[in-house]
Amino acid sequence: MTAADAREPSFRDSVDIMFNRAAAMLDLPPGMTEKIRVANSTYIVRFGVKLRGEIKTFTGYRSVHSEHMEPVKGGIRFADNVNQDEVEALAALMTYKCALVEVPYGGSKGGLCINPADWEVDELERITRRFAYELIKRDLINPAQNVPAPDMGTGEREMAWIADAYKRIKTDDINARACVTGKPRNVGGIAGRTEATGRGVQFGLREFFRHPDDVAFANLSGNLKDKRIIVQGLGNVGYHAAKFLSEDDGCKVVAVIERDGAIHSERGIDIETLKSYMADHGGIRGYPGAEYIAEGAKALELDCDILIPAAMEAAIHLGNAERISAPLIVEAANGPVTAGADEILRRKGCVIIPDMYANAGGVTVSYFEWVKNLSHIRFGRMQRRQEEAFHEMLIGGIEEVTGSPFPADTKQKYMEGADELSLVRSGLDDTMRSAYQDMSKVWNERRHEGVDLRTAAYLISIQKVADSYATLGL
Ligand code: NAD
Repeated sequence: MTAADAREPSFRDSVDIMFNRAAAMLDLPPGMTEKIRVANSTYIVRFGVKLRGEIKTFTGYRSVHSEHMEPVKGGIRFADNVNQDEVEALAALMTYKCALVEVPYGGSKGGLCINPADWEVDELERITRRFAYELIKRDLINPAQNVPAPDMGTGEREMAWIADAYKRIKTDDINARACVTGKPRNVGGIAGRTEATGRGVQFGLREFFRHPDDVAFANLSGNLKDKRIIVQGLGNVGYHAAKFLSEDDGCKVVAVIERDGAIHSERGIDIETLKSYMADHGGIRGYPGAEYIAEGAKALELDCDILIPAAMEAAIHLGNAERISAPLIVEAANGPVTAGADEILRRKGCVIIPDMYANAGGVTVSYFEWVKNLSHIRFGRMQRRQEEAFHEMLIGGIEEVTGSPFPADTKQKYMEGADELSLVRSGLDDTMRSAYQDMSKVWNERRHEGVDLRTAAYLISIQKVADSYATLGL
């Protein structure tokens, strides 16, 4: 451990330090700050599964941070370093995130200490179902009380197993599908959920660049076109964010950092080509046409316009914060900047778009999926063809009055009624835009008091949670 590491607070302490800084600026009733800050409960389960001729024991967690709104919501992570401090930090972030983007949930998070790569698919399924059973029987998975979603190391497949485990136990629950989000489409998932967090990063950055004063504060100008970006972690969140920003907005990905090192190319890295290279070779090492950097984390320090840590917490810490040169950091991962590093970066004038906002696209679309499951009908099913007929009538009228045909491609786009995917994107875009506008307003109004974007996000969310408690009574 380096000297810098010894001074580093734990992940939960780091979240608490950031929380406390904002809470001190609010005028909350006595004791309210403490009530909001602490995790309400953390359940630890140890269970055995017979595998490979012996009983293997696994440890899992489900932490509930705040029940000011129910159900509580938060992903389930599979990683071998999952621990209580981490799930409690992540559960707290979920509370603040949901409040900030106005999805009506309290915060929760779960995790299982396991390296998914150590197990065959059928073994993983048995382990996941057994873990799900432990949580279901305690209502820590329940459509009305606690609704998990994917996180690091889990995805659609695990969510489908969990949903099926719930259905088998609660056979009479007509809302069973709403017990978990991030499911495949054919078992109640929603269009656009897999890529939602990466899409939210894109929508959030677009909104940031619609605020020229905020952009100037980061010593940047213009829009996203030609901005040079570095991405750490090409998993669900990082891959989609990098793909959308380069394909739709003209950003240039100049470096990608993965477990086995980093690659760097000022010509730009094609994300689809790199992703399929990784699928074939198990990592990014040896990717042709780019410089390989064995110590991947060093690439966080390279020159760029936008740094997107999208892998795990504490990537930017006391040991490397001084050397980070990016003027803008977008926290696509949860907690990628420690509290100490945050202070150093703020002093250096770096603008940080905080995790509780930047990666909120996932929980936002999870909310749409949960609502869809509860209403038992896909979005757009009732009105799409009716809208299409109205649009056709309107275009026909315009063509008749003007005597000239409507431009064919505009006509085609306008005619189509909204399907589920376009409604999900519209809802996500609206959510990311309004939440950024709220944060930016507070940031600009209170900058003279030392408020940055992260503190602005905390100020908004803590106040909302406090208001809920005040209205409900404790
Ligand atoms: P993932 O498992 O799909 O991807 C993580 C990626 O990071 C993998 O490609 C992995 O190889 C890479 N990685 C791991 N350790 C690394 C290291 N030391 N250096 C470089 N790369 C490393 O996970 P994900 O779902 O994309 O989640 C990533 C982060 O985003 C987490 O902090 C998670 O909590 C957060 N997040 C995820 C979602 C979601 O919808 N999946 C939503 C909100 C926040």
